[in-house]
Amino acid sequence: MRGALYLRFRPQVFSELVGQDHIKKTLLNALKENKVSHAYLFCGPRGTGKTTTARLLAKALNCQNSRNGEPCNKCESCREINENKALDLIEIDAASNRGIDEIRDLREKVRVAPAKSKYKVFIIDEVHMLTKEAFNALLKTLEEPPKHIIFVLATTEIHKVPVTIISRCQRFDFHLIDLKNLRDKIKKIAQKEKIDLDNDSLDLIVRKARGSYRDAESLLDQLSAFSGQKITFEMVKNILGLPDFEEISELGKLLIERNYQKAITDLEKLLDQGEDAEQLTLGLIDFFRNCLLVKIGGKDLTGEISDDELKVLKELAEKISDNDLLKLIDLLSEAILQLKVTEIDRLPLEVSFLRFCQERIKTTDDKEAKEIDRELSVISQIKSKLPEPVKKVIRPVREKIISKTSSGREFSSDKKSQKIGSDSLNQIKADWQAILEEVKLANHSIRAFLQAGEPTHLDQNGALMITYRYNFHKERMDEIRNRTVVEKAIEKITGLKVHLCGEVDADKLLKTNNSRNITAQHSQDEASADITAVFGGGKIIDNC
Ligand SMILES: [Zn+2]
Repeated sequence: MRGALYLRFRPQVFSELVGQDHIKKTLLNALKENKVSHAYLFCGPRGTGKTTTARLLAKALNCQNSRNGEPCNKCESCREINENKALDLIEIDAASNRGIDEIRDLREKVRVAPAKSKYKVFIIDEVHMLTKEAFNALLKTLEEPPKHIIFVLATTEIHKVPVTIISRCQRFDFHLIDLKNLRDKIKKIAQKEKIDLDNDSLDLIVRKARGSYRDAESLLDQLSAFSGQKITFEMVKNILGLPDFEEISELGKLLIERNYQKAITDLEKLLDQGEDAEQLTLGLIDFFRNCLLVKIGGKDLTGEISDDELKVLKELAEKISDNDLLKLIDLLSEAILQLKVTEIDRLPLEVSFLRFCQERIKTTDDKEAKEIDRELSVISQIKSKLPEPVKKVIRPVREKIISKTSSGREFSSDKKSQKIGSDSLNQIKADWQAILEEVKLANHSIRAFLQAGEPTHLDQNGALMITYRYNFHKERMDEIRNRTVVEKAIEKITGLKVHLCGEVDADKLLKTNNSRNITAQHSQDEASADITAVFGGGKIIDNC
């Protein structure tokens, strides 16, 4: 059954294509004005409509009654393509036909005139899979194309396609489909298929497909094959392997209470039972996001989650500050990134749990020694109970704290010492990326905090002002240990001896960086802005 919906609902005209408006427009214009190129390269993620568009192009080119560039779907040529009978549309999957023989065969076919249409169209899917020899042979064809031939090359991995090929083609970049468009499309299909699909299930399917139209459709297909005409939220969660609200809220509650020991034990249990680390992390992010929404009253969640769930969220939201919720979301978002590069799937979550629990201990300059003692005792208390992978992470952290600097790495200045001058700030700005990289070598998370700010002012005495959008980042960077790491990195890269100061001024950042669309005049605005910042791509809930 899988794939059936995808074929049945394949767009038959350009206007039915979901998203990719820039490509539709350009192609329709070229068709209308008869200025079609002889070779196209369609690149972009899977499931975004590359081959569908290629087939539409073939159909429109050979349609006998095309109107405004659109194929009629009634003439003989259109019907043959729709029924997969067209002799002049040749589709090649390069993944399974990647050798020189296949391309030689293709070159033979190129020489022969179309059987009955105006154009012979070759669609080569996953073109990056071709061998070097095959690419060379293809290049020769592209260099001297017969008039009646159109090539459409499609790829998900453009970097593997030789530049010589790319330069011969008109290139179109397909983007992931935005969630609202995807949601509308899937909703329409469900309605046409008379599938009973509630909004929660629809949201989940769309979110899970992450911008891939094909993935969203095949998920719907799978679900309806499994359950018939009624799809329930529970069923979607089960099939997608998503954690229960209960499991997530229990973990969330432990974190809010800063009960790291139990949080980590429970986490281990869930993972051992086969829960997926990424889904758990996403579930937690979603949970704390909802907590924040409940807390600041930014959005009415009625209808999106059940009354019981809302009640739990409200109770827990009472027990935690906005700032702490943002910290949790930040840490968990970092965990999602880390999950992609780590081999131990549970590690990023464990680390983010621990980091959050350590957050309780704020270090201010004059109290530093006392705070370090507290920090150490907290760590040693929990250390004995931790699983081995986490111990490995804790050990260096502990050593860093003992040496009173977060850097385990010695900086030695590459540059001769420089005097602060009128151009020094510009020099620091110009070297900012290199400085961030240097800081990252010493400590990954300091880089993450520093990156949230920008150097905005340097006075003659060497006081370098870093402006942040959020207090959370400034607070972290105010810690002496973190400042020292950055100051040493700046000295190493630029030869300038500066001391770091911090301020929170979102407006100033707005002025220096117009691309950031953030206003933060009131705390509520600030919190919504933070949500936008954290969930840049999270259009799904806001738009629905
Ligand atoms: Zn037609």
